[in-house]
Amino acid sequence: MTFSIHGIGVSTKIAIGKAHLLAHVSLEAPHYLIAPDRIEAEVQRFADAVRNVQDELTELQASLDDDAPHEMGAILSVHGMIAQDTMLTQTPQELIRDKKYNAEWALSEQVNELVEQFDAFEDEYLRERKHDVMQIGTRIMRALRGHVISEQATPQAFADDMILVAHDISPADMLQFKGRALAGFITDLGGTTSHTAIVARGLGVPAVVATGQARSIIREHELVIIDGINGVVLVNPDELLLAHYRGLQIEQQLHQTSLNTLVDTPALSMDGKTIKLMANIELPSDLDGVTAVNADGVGLFRSEFLFLNRTSLPDEEEQYLAYRKVVQTLSPKPVTIRTLDIGADKGLSTDDYEVPLNPALGLRAVRYSLAHPDLFLTQLRAVLRASAFGVVKLLLPMISGVEQLKQALTLIEQAREQLRERHQAFDAHIQVGIMVEIPSAALILPALLPLIDFVSIGTNDLTQYTLAVDRGDAEVGHLYNETHPAVLGLIAYTIRTTQRAHKGISVCGEMAGDVKLTRLLLGFGLEDFSMQAAQVLSVKERVLMASVKKSRKAATQVLNAFEMAEIARLIRELNERRF
Ligand code: PEP
Ligand code: MG
Repeated sequence: MTFSIHGIGVSTKIAIGKAHLLAHVSLEAPHYLIAPDRIEAEVQRFADAVRNVQDELTELQASLDDDAPHEMGAILSVHGMIAQDTMLTQTPQELIRDKKYNAEWALSEQVNELVEQFDAFEDEYLRERKHDVMQIGTRIMRALRGHVISEQATPQAFADDMILVAHDISPADMLQFKGRALAGFITDLGGTTSHTAIVARGLGVPAVVATGQARSIIREHELVIIDGINGVVLVNPDELLLAHYRGLQIEQQLHQTSLNTLVDTPALSMDGKTIKLMANIELPSDLDGVTAVNADGVGLFRSEFLFLNRTSLPDEEEQYLAYRKVVQTLSPKPVTIRTLDIGADKGLSTDDYEVPLNPALGLRAVRYSLAHPDLFLTQLRAVLRASAFGVVKLLLPMISGVEQLKQALTLIEQAREQLRERHQAFDAHIQVGIMVEIPSAALILPALLPLIDFVSIGTNDLTQYTLAVDRGDAEVGHLYNETHPAVLGLIAYTIRTTQRAHKGISVCGEMAGDVKLTRLLLGFGLEDFSMQAAQVLSVKERVLMASVKKSRKAATQVLNAFEMAEIARLIRELNERRF
């Protein structure tokens, strides 16, 4: 029977494919199938990890001081029992053998199963034991990560017509899907600018997030249509619906073919303004996409993605090589490297640093870097060293005040000094800028501007912090709106004020890649956009059809409106205009 599920559309595309359900909990693991001749080795890898955890717990219990709290011994003994239970030690081995799952996949599948069973208990004490099971699952997962994945076990589980259906996918988990052939994503949770949605846009595939329940009502292998335009998922479509969407898909493919002819066309507005269209990247492996669309450089390198999914941090050399690769590949085009923006939905779990997923208002981004100067200095030296190979711009995330900016600038100077002492080269004139993504930074901009060279507006966080709406929370997704008059007012003010100070200004939040907002941003005077590479050509098409001068008047009208319906109407009219 055909039925539909509604959520929020990400990327204006259609996908048709087969559903593949992902596990509920602890997705921080790669999912792939094991080649038949590697199965026993994979079972052994899992068994070794379990034994490590069992030994670890035994040691911990033995090392407890006599005066340690009684509860601690009790918890460790419960954990010891769970780690010996065949449900956790044997069943995943069966999954590896029977379904050819890799060890991490088998483990997360079984942990989910157990968590669901515990959830069904009436007794509260028993119900709460699910947390212990999850903790042991996490320990085994970590032990698995310490083991090298066999080369033969190359990821091969996904097909290009596969639509992944998950309760939620963390940014770290999204990384495993990069470079894979996939048709799209559906999640119960998330928002349009959650990092999951951002990575999906980067992959150029449609997604529908915030469906609330897709993971529990869609079944494995069911035929699914994702309508990313309307945020609708159609399950088991009949022939008529299928034919309709196949037609739409063909139209989209034809449009994409015509967009591809714009790769070498300069982004020039109808009234002759040259607009810079830069790309946002998460990893050096994203470079192929950037060069394919001939972007004007990288406007945002989210460096924290180099730090995710690993048990030890990338050291200075590893970071330097990663940054240098991007810089050299794109030189002489500029590369804006943002320092670590860890925290909120991007946690760290390494031997030296533990950053749990925390509230968006918590210890994240530059706050975290300033609290850990060694970590920050290591990154700054790596970025500075890469600057010797091209044009690097250094970007500080989440700046909220003058003192904080001065503190960061002092550390940048310290990193420079350290490199001078080591006689290592760097660009002495490297530009340093800040993200304006907290309203306080926008409001005190005149005090910040003399200290920096450029500003990049992070509209994703600026919207979240101006409206007090968590960008990743599906429950309040309807309240998250980048065209709220307060947000638009701050953006227009930031562009105007920065330009008056003759400093560089760009937008690198998701707004920059939204073709419905290209003319509006041009009307605000923006000349530098940074977005996922997959969006560059669509935005270029809009630039080619826009007059900056004539968009200005409409943009002023938008800024004078305070009701959402009125703003939406004015933006629609601006977009429908023939200049
Ligand atoms: C933003 O907040 O708009 C931004 C570009 O940074 P991120 O999405 O990585 O938080
Ligand atoms: Mg941000």
